[in-house]
Amino acid sequence: PTDSLVDMMDAAVTRYRSAIALDFFGATTSYSRLGDEISRVASGLRKLGVTAGDRVALVLPNCPQHIVAFYAVLRLGAIVVEHNPLYTPRELRHQFEDHGARVAIVWDKLVDTVVAFPKDIAVRTVVSVDLTRAMPASKRFALRLPIRKARDARAALTSARLSTGATSWQSLLGARPLRRSFPRPAPGDTAVLQYTSGTTGSPKGAILTHFNLRVNALQGAAWVPGLKPGVEVVYAVLPMFHAYGLTLCLTFAMSMGARLVLFPKFDPDLVLDAARTSPPTFLPAVPPIYDRLVRAAESRRVSLSSIRFAISGAMNLPVATVERWEEATGGLLVEGYGMTETSPVAAGNPIGPSRRPGTVGVPFPNTEIRVVDPEDSTVDRGFDEEGELLIRGPQVFSGYWNRPDESAAVLLADGWLRTGDIVTVSADGFITIVDRIKELIITGGFNVAPSEVEETLMSHPDVADVAVVGLPRASGGEDVTAAVVLVPGAELNVEALRAYSRHRLSAYKVPRRIVQVDELPHSLIGKVLRRQVRAQLLTNP
Ligand code: ATP
Ligand code: MG
Repeated sequence: PTDSLVDMMDAAVTRYRSAIALDFFGATTSYSRLGDEISRVASGLRKLGVTAGDRVALVLPNCPQHIVAFYAVLRLGAIVVEHNPLYTPRELRHQFEDHGARVAIVWDKLVDTVVAFPKDIAVRTVVSVDLTRAMPASKRFALRLPIRKARDARAALTSARLSTGATSWQSLLGARPLRRSFPRPAPGDTAVLQYTSGTTGSPKGAILTHFNLRVNALQGAAWVPGLKPGVEVVYAVLPMFHAYGLTLCLTFAMSMGARLVLFPKFDPDLVLDAARTSPPTFLPAVPPIYDRLVRAAESRRVSLSSIRFAISGAMNLPVATVERWEEATGGLLVEGYGMTETSPVAAGNPIGPSRRPGTVGVPFPNTEIRVVDPEDSTVDRGFDEEGELLIRGPQVFSGYWNRPDESAAVLLADGWLRTGDIVTVSADGFITIVDRIKELIITGGFNVAPSEVEETLMSHPDVADVAVVGLPRASGGEDVTAAVVLVPGAELNVEALRAYSRHRLSAYKVPRRIVQVDELPHSLIGKVLRRQVRAQLLTNP
């Protein structure tokens, strides 16, 4: 493509005008009004001093203001930095330290946290967004999210910074529209700093250009056939502050003139309520969401049959989830694969009879892959042999913000990206994800992929949640160790769970130890955080 995300949005505004672009609990925004609000907020931000290349922080859940802010920042040639509003004040502060944004657009509940950042953090202007304004009172509970407060935040409200720098979203919206001739970003300009999930270490800010993100929306459109411009209804239950939601919900929906229905959090009841008035047709999500939605729809007797396509990614999709979903909806659930560094999608199962559940499908158009020895990326592996996946394509990012060493470690000289994932590829090009290199368990001789053991234990009726990690063994190597959360009423029977695993897994994969825990840590998109589980088990065995 030769257009930026801004050009793409302008084209949608012109083409779809009176069609509904955004739907937030029934409060709708047409494409033409969205275009107008973007232009006003862009000019409001310009008055606050935002110029091309500046980073602007967004600390917002999914809401209409998030979308307007996103495109307004881009319109100025500035860079959007997305944040998870549920991060602790400390985690948010680390990100602000990293990117150095001077202007932040913040959910009002978190304004005092941002204002309380120490003086060496660059942020000087905080735009406060009240999300309840356009929302029916009966739905306000949707904003009850477990946000984390800084202890000293209240006191800081009186600080000089707020009195000089705070402004409201309404005042930005009150600005006059930006003049049309105002310079636009070029496709190669940076659009977004998207932090990775932090599954294997602290989150890194991936630099994604307009071109990267625009390409991925086009590749996605080529993947999902039969989507009709101007009529699809996309449900955004995935957060937009994650690469997955950003592309598969936001840019994808806007590029095809869809109605984007926004959810500040995933709650099956919210989805089913919305489905009565705006039935969804396209639902990108993650496996636990599909499972919960099917159960809730059954118990409430609501039909999900309007959903023709469901796209799963970010973590391994159990075949059982596919079967349950397709039976309940009559639509298709297919798995894709990607990472923040690939904007994010790099591969997907063909949508149609040639798909192969259990694999993540084939590389996206214009995307090349290789499977190599993780120790030496010049040595290629053969078909069906395990190795590290390398990716090269137009959606591959250009590096991490402020981290030259880590960027150089993953971006090889000839454009190949090291994914850190162990995969196999069949002779006809289907990719199967084994696990992450960093999380493979070295038992002594054989490597165990924790996800395979987790999937096995999850299929046991007593198990509600599970994380499998390796714990050091005195004699060297690691013990496969499972931390399980049981369903209410079940009692831990270690021998029964081990016997169940022995029937389904090779002996060396059967967990040597199984411990019961009350709950397990998950990333915001729902990945179990094995690194944290392992640390907890090490300090408190
Ligand atoms: P960090 O890089 O900060 O440690 P992260 O890798 O979890 O966190 P993301 O970019 O959100 O951050 O996730 C990309 C990773 O998610 C991939 O490298 C892969 O390990 C995993 N993943 C994505 N899709 C799938 C899938 N379909 N099946 C299994 N794993 C997947
Ligand atoms: Mg990663």
